[in-house]
Amino acid sequence: MLERIQEELLKTNTTLVAVSKTKPAAAIQAMYDKGQRIFGENRVQEVAEKYETLPKDIQWHAIGHLQRNKVKFIAPFISMIHSVDSARLLEEINKQAAKNDRSIDCLLQFHIAEEESKFGWQNVEDVLTFLKSSDFSEMKNVRIVGVMGMATFTDDKEQVRGEFQRLKGYFEELKSDFFTDNEAFKEISMGMSGDYQLAVEEGSTMVRIGSLLFGRR
Ligand SMILES: *Cc1c(COP(=O)(O)O)cnc(C)c1O
Repeated sequence: MLERIQEELLKTNTTLVAVSKTKPAAAIQAMYDKGQRIFGENRVQEVAEKYETLPKDIQWHAIGHLQRNKVKFIAPFISMIHSVDSARLLEEINKQAAKNDRSIDCLLQFHIAEEESKFGWQNVEDVLTFLKSSDFSEMKNVRIVGVMGMATFTDDKEQVRGEFQRLKGYFEELKSDFFTDNEAFKEISMGMSGDYQLAVEEGSTMVRIGSLLFGRR
């Protein structure tokens, strides 16, 4: 399965984040041995433990909702945080990254689904206001490299497509209004096991696939 998906994603130059949450280190090691280097996790303690035991050239991505008081546990090693849904969270990431004398790549998570429970910024205007503030310009230890979103969990493909299009639209707006000549701002993290092909069609640059690779959780 990994090879098939890797091959498929190669055609569109889409990055695969193998979502290994709840899966044991041995399952990750097996996928590592086949060449996979980027793994996504949603629990701080779990990713910190896996970081300790697994090869150090793995790039760990934090993909789930992140509490501010837990940022310090992943700040020394995390490669990317997909779930930045508030200014206060970014501020904490910046602070902890500075303590570790490094910079952390972050994605701004937008709320694109119908469901109430999903986190994220609601609109581009709020994000632009924040990005243009001195609060943000003083954050030297974070780099915003794109956006992330989760579509509604539904069989209605057109709805999911519409939500992905909306996220792509947010990305384009931010690109033209703020990140104009910023080449680092290039990622659109969208698409999971059930909808990644649709996401790729709609311009995803990074898919987060778990169960399709590792089996059911
Ligand atoms: C669990 C999770 C995924 C992967 O979901 P699958 O349906 O198993 O592919 C992707 N993104 C986020 C944010 C997740 O929490």
